[in-house]
Amino acid sequence: MTSPSNQTQALQRRSLDAVWHPCTQMARAEAVPPLPIARGEGPWLYDFEGQRYFDANSSWWVNLFGHADAAINAAIKHQLDTLPHVMLAGCTHEPAVRLAERLSARTGGALGHVFFGSDGASAVEIALKQSFHSWRNLGRSDKREFVCLQNGYHGETIGALAVTDVAIFRDAYDPLLMRAHIVTSPDSRLGNEAEALAAMRALLAERHDQIAAVIVEPLVQGAAGMVMHSPNYLRQLRAMTREFGVHLIADEIAVGCGRTGQFFAWEHVSPRPTGTPSAPRGGAAAFGSGPAGDRDTQPPQGQDWPDFILLSKGITAGTLPLSLVLTTDAVYRAFWSDDVKRGFLHSHSYTGNALACAAANAVLDRFDAGQIERNAEQASLLMEAFAPLGQCSRVEQLRQQGMILAFDVVDAPSGFAEAFHLAARRHQLLIRPIGRTVYLMPPYLIDAATAAWLAAAVRATLCDLFPDVA
Ligand SMILES: *Cc1c(COP(=O)(O)O)cnc(C)c1O
Repeated sequence: MTSPSNQTQALQRRSLDAVWHPCTQMARAEAVPPLPIARGEGPWLYDFEGQRYFDANSSWWVNLFGHADAAINAAIKHQLDTLPHVMLAGCTHEPAVRLAERLSARTGGALGHVFFGSDGASAVEIALKQSFHSWRNLGRSDKREFVCLQNGYHGETIGALAVTDVAIFRDAYDPLLMRAHIVTSPDSRLGNEAEALAAMRALLAERHDQIAAVIVEPLVQGAAGMVMHSPNYLRQLRAMTREFGVHLIADEIAVGCGRTGQFFAWEHVSPRPTGTPSAPRGGAAAFGSGPAGDRDTQPPQGQDWPDFILLSKGITAGTLPLSLVLTTDAVYRAFWSDDVKRGFLHSHSYTGNALACAAANAVLDRFDAGQIERNAEQASLLMEAFAPLGQCSRVEQLRQQGMILAFDVVDAPSGFAEAFHLAARRHQLLIRPIGRTVYLMPPYLIDAATAAWLAAAVRATLCDLFPDVA
């Protein structure tokens, strides 16, 4: 490759001097400076050198329909000229109301109350506070402990980090964090679902009088390295949390918005209502095993929903920060009182931002118009294209859940993730492995040619790093 132009180098220098980059050791960033991006179009990002890169992780899992999508941009522009923002305390606006109604309808009304936050971590904080405070309002103030899963990730603020079990993010702040119970997580690679359920049961049996809620990432623990489990685990967990009177928080910040093959990952959990015709594959199949999917047109029925569902990331398709906490009438009612202090007096300045809500409504329009079916097709194209890679001696545990595809690299040397990321750039691929797990979480823009191109680019990158890969 030619050496970067002065424009690229100047922007890198200014960035390193003025911008403290997220999730980055800045000393290391001097050696591996950030890639300046000039513009985005569809799944492609363009640098100042005329090179393009396929955004294989949807810019940290947010960009569902590619960059600069015309319909979503138009919705935002229209809202911008009408009402960019108004506070949601004492005022309301159509985009927020409509968004809340539409999301609630997608749960069949089971989660009919929507609280707005600004990013994922704020949604986690809101759910933890609502759970604790609702128990307290019901006279159960001893219920103030939380349970999370091993290797689970729920964000980086102090409360969210307390229910996160990723050492590299958590350890430095451990002295500041409230104590959460961390329980064995089910991992399809280990086949340990029964053990994980038994560990959860033992904890809930002993401490349910002190436990407010269990928080999980349904079906896929993203930041753990795309660790997958079955809907059966979630079904059992729901039954168990009901049995012991403990809230269940489904953190769908990464897995919501169609990523797993349903709009909500939780829709995989319950069996289809009888008498409904079965739809084509839901895009949820994993290699060899996986839940059957269904469609997105009617509100799902017969589901045993969690007490909270959290959305963020994809809900605005990578345009504006927004998060939402959906909860039940029971939780909502616990705050209903003549006493102001029993209300949920939580807010963020940009709560329910109208521009972000307009973007989210444009995202829901896509799902109202067959996005789940399109994702099912795209997921099977990905599966077909990547299946041969499963035979590669350096590849193990090739797995898929809808529009998430991952595999682990055998005998990956230290520094593998960064080396793979840099090598992939030379193949026009922007991809960031987690440890030795390579994953794709692409925009929902996959056709057969793109899927084949992606598999070839991943294989070529592996070949660059490992001469033994044929
Ligand atoms: C990204 C993520 C969060 C945190 O969201 P932010 O917007 O980064 O604060 C929480 N939970 C899960 C499962 C996530 O993937």
